[in-house]
Parts: sequence; structure tokens; C-alpha cells
Amino acid sequence: MPNRIVLVLFTVIIAGVKYHIWTEGCQMNAADSLRVAAALEKLGYSASLRAEESDVVVLNTCVVRQSAEDKAIGRLTSLKALKMKNPNLVLNLMGCLVGIRGAAEMKERYPYVDVFSQPSDPHPLIDFLSGLTRQQVLDRERQIEDILDADFAYTLPDSRKGRMVSALLPVVFGCSHACAYCVIPLRRGQEISRPPQEVLADARSLAAQGVKEITLLGQIIDRYGLDLPGTPSLSSLLRDLNRIDSLERIRFLTSHPNWMSEELLDAVDELPKVMPHFELPIQAGDDAVLRNMRRGYSVEQFLRIVEKIRARFSTVSIATDLIVGFPGESEAQFEHSVEALKALRPDMTHVARYSPRPGTLSARTMADDVPDEEKMRRFRVIEDLQERITSEINQAYLGTKVPVLFEEKNKGRWRGRTSTNKLVFAESAQDLRGQVRDAAITWTGPWSMIAVV
Ligand code: SF4
Repeated sequence: MPNRIVLVLFTVIIAGVKYHIWTEGCQMNAADSLRVAAALEKLGYSASLRAEESDVVVLNTCVVRQSAEDKAIGRLTSLKALKMKNPNLVLNLMGCLVGIRGAAEMKERYPYVDVFSQPSDPHPLIDFLSGLTRQQVLDRERQIEDILDADFAYTLPDSRKGRMVSALLPVVFGCSHACAYCVIPLRRGQEISRPPQEVLADARSLAAQGVKEITLLGQIIDRYGLDLPGTPSLSSLLRDLNRIDSLERIRFLTSHPNWMSEELLDAVDELPKVMPHFELPIQAGDDAVLRNMRRGYSVEQFLRIVEKIRARFSTVSIATDLIVGFPGESEAQFEHSVEALKALRPDMTHVARYSPRPGTLSARTMADDVPDEEKMRRFRVIEDLQERITSEINQAYLGTKVPVLFEEKNKGRWRGRTSTNKLVFAESAQDLRGQVRDAAITWTGPWSMIAVV
């Protein structure tokens, strides 16, 4: 018993200061939060699940839809009471709610927030916690870079090393495409690719920390490198990553049909570590709506690319995104989206109800004229259709054996993914973390499968 008391005291002492990170939105935000966590742990903070018991609280926000923005503002408002009770609490507002031009406005509206950080930029928080102004930091760049490893290095927090099997790795920041509805170019700025040597260094470092699968992130990932000297391509990056010994799997998202090249399909086909899974948003199944969205392709062109992918790969999964209720979308145009999905038969559709985002072309120039109830009805039609399609696709796995990379055990069951990104659960007393095992599929549903290993 005395030993237990010593252990508890020791834990309390070394736990010291704590941080809590609340993350909303896309995988890019998830990767950024992990990077902030790694930097905070280098400063001696340890993770906490509760904002109430933390010394630093980071809100990493998303504004891609009105509902996400409302959620972030609700969370921010609720933290005010906590800050009033504990003035030493450091509040950091990060991500798209701050965006490229929004820090000053945010400061006026939320004066109780200590630090505002643009998306993918943990420097302001680290500077603040180090008690330094940005100017002073310039003289001490080395020290800060030691904390962040390098300007854009993505590494794991100490608490996750050896435990995290699958990691997200941003390779393209921002977007220069300017789809009519999308706020990302306004909030995250123009497209910037990271040099391949930086990405490779991060990937090697993640692999050395026990990561088995990396997912490369970019708003238009297949445009990777077009803005860099020598224009390295995504396929050449994949070929280099494929040579990292201890990595088992590589994925990438999100693709845009206009840049889905033969060269990229060759790389996915030829490289054993690159998984046959494509995230390819269609956004609408009607040409006039696609033109209004400024997407840059027709339904026919999109379906032809998907046909090409399916003809090339015997095993492949395709996920897509679709917006319902875009300004002016008539019932007939919505039906075209339904028909397009029936032809496409994607493994997954991320469906969203249109909401106007300030500053975007559609918010400035198009009336949000599809009533909310009608958007919800269309949303449900797509959800039901997708559930039927996914159930049918997944049934084909029943009785087959497929390689699954297992990630973690939860409530007695191991959770992993097939090469096609299907979620698989399996009971096993063995330690399957980070292992690829042939799994015999014994049950399938629309969103997951059960297997025996
Ligand atoms: S491609 Fe379009 S939807 Fe995607 S991030 Fe860029 S502007 Fe937004």
C-alpha cells in the first residue's frame, strides 16, 4: 500500500501542468492538433481530457459549415466562465475561425482569449507560453524550432509514441481553386505544397515512432508539387514514401478529378504500400449546378474517371462528397445527383446540406433559396441511398479473407481497416496493434464488419 501512495504522489508531481485540445473539422485540423500536443509535451505539459482541470486549453476550430462554426463559438463562449474563475488559464483559439484575416476581429469579440493562431500554425501559442514576443523569438528561433522540430515538422506527442498506428501528414496547405461555396481558400490561404524532403523526413520520423500507416493530406492532394521548383508530383512522392521500410500503408486525400493523372493511377497500382482507396468528391450530379459551384468538370467527365479507376483496379474503394440544397438546385437537379450516385456506387458519400459561408462567391451572389426542410429531406434521401449501396458492397466481403491493419483495442475488440478503408472489429487475446493480419469476415453491415483472426 505505501508503494501505491508513493506512486500516486509521483504521478501528481510529474503530471504538473496540463493541456486540453478540442478539435473540430477535417483531418488537417486533427493533424495540427497532434502537432500542438507534441510541442506542448516538449514544454512539459501533459494531456488532460477535461478543460476544467487544464492550464492550457486549445480550441482548434472549423467553419466549413454554419453548424461547425456555431459549435466552435458555443464552446468558446462556455470557456469564458472557466477563464473568469481561473485567470491563469491560457486560452488559445486556433484554426479556421481565426483564419488568414480574422485575428483582429476575433480579439475584439473574444478579449478573454489569450492567443489566436491561424490554421496549421502552433507558433503563437508556443511563443506565448515561452513568454516571448514574436520579435524576441526571431533571436531565439533555434529554441522554438527545437520545440516544434522544424517549421512544418509533424511529429507525435511523447504520450502517443509507440501507440499510434495511423497518422495524418499534411503535405499541401490551403487551396487556390475557389469553388463557389468554399471558405477554405479564404481561411487557409492559397495552395502551398511542402517540399518532398520535408515530407519524407516527417514520414521517416513517424515510422521511427511506431507509425505503420500515414495518410497524406491536401485539399487537392493530386495537385501536390505544382507550386514547387522542379514540380515534383504526388506519384513521385508516393514512390519515395513506399521505400520507407517500417511503413506498411500509405493513403492520400482529397483528390480532384481534374488532376487524377495516369501517372498517379500507375503509382497506386504499382506500389504495394499505397492503398487502393480514392476520396474523390463529386459535389453535385447536375452539370448546371456543377458550373454554378465552379467545380471545373461535368458529371460525364467525373463518371469517366471513376470508370477508368474501376477498370484499372480489381479491388478499390471510392468515397465521395455531395452537397444538397446548393442555391438554385431544383428537384430535378437533385434527382440528377441521386442518379449520379446510383451510377457511381461509391463506398461512402459524405453528404452536407449547403450553408452560405461569409465571403464566398455563392454567399455574395446567390440566394440560399432551398428551404431547410427540403435540404434535410434531400440529405436523408442521399443517406438512405448510400446506406443501401454500402451494405451491398460490403456484403461481397462476407466469407472472404482480407488483410487488416489493426490499430487499437476498445471494449475488448480490436479495431482495424482493410486496404479499402473498411472498418473491421475482431476479438483476440493477442496484441494486434500495428499488425497486418488476414482476417476472415464473418459479418458485414453498412459501416463496419466483424472478422476472426
Ligand atoms: S477544391 Fe474547392 S471545395 Fe476543395 S478546398 Fe478547394 S475551394 Fe474548397
